[in-house]
Amino acid sequence: MASPIAHSFAGFWTFLVFAKQLQIRVAAQWRQYLLRLGVLVVLANLPDFDFPISLALLGNTSLHHGFSHSLAAAVLVALAVSCVWRIVPGFWRSAMIYFTAYGSHLLIDLCTGPTLGWTNTSFGIPLLWPWPKKFSSPLILIPGVRGKDFAALFSLNNVWSCTYEVLTCGAITAVALVLWRGRLKSRFVRTPAVPAAFSNSSK
Ligand SMILES: [Zn+2]
Repeated sequence: MASPIAHSFAGFWTFLVFAKQLQIRVAAQWRQYLLRLGVLVVLANLPDFDFPISLALLGNTSLHHGFSHSLAAAVLVALAVSCVWRIVPGFWRSAMIYFTAYGSHLLIDLCTGPTLGWTNTSFGIPLLWPWPKKFSSPLILIPGVRGKDFAALFSLNNVWSCTYEVLTCGAITAVALVLWRGRLKSRFVRTPAVPAAFSNSSK
């Protein structure tokens, strides 16, 4: 599985998409949107809560990568959260944003496996649960962390995987933010100035 680092970045990317839709100026108004960002980051990590639950209940990871890693779970969670709290006005719009955050987790897990590249080594998830078939991507972009218990999660190999996620996801985020700022600037430059005749008549 990918670590919470990659999934949290995906939650942040979902927040950026949401902010773009609502034309929120994130840099100036980020404080008032912290709760929304937090909810999306939690949703992007939610499927992996089956890992600690499985360890606590059974002492092994057999419940991991089960129902929580399916489209059915993504739809259910998105609808349930939208019933309780709407991140934007409108039930379905909120549900779509929640689904995107939760779905980002499934997308990342599809592309997570021990060997990077076109290696077909993904661990696989039951995307169309209750159909037990495990789906995976042939292209592996994230090596992921491995461990049969909490202690094993802190292995050197997993430290390397987490570093890889910080560097790659951080680079993607930096590029996205630079491009976004560029677009905002060009939009500002293209905005027509107030006509002189109009400004004179208003005096
Ligand atoms: Zn997962």
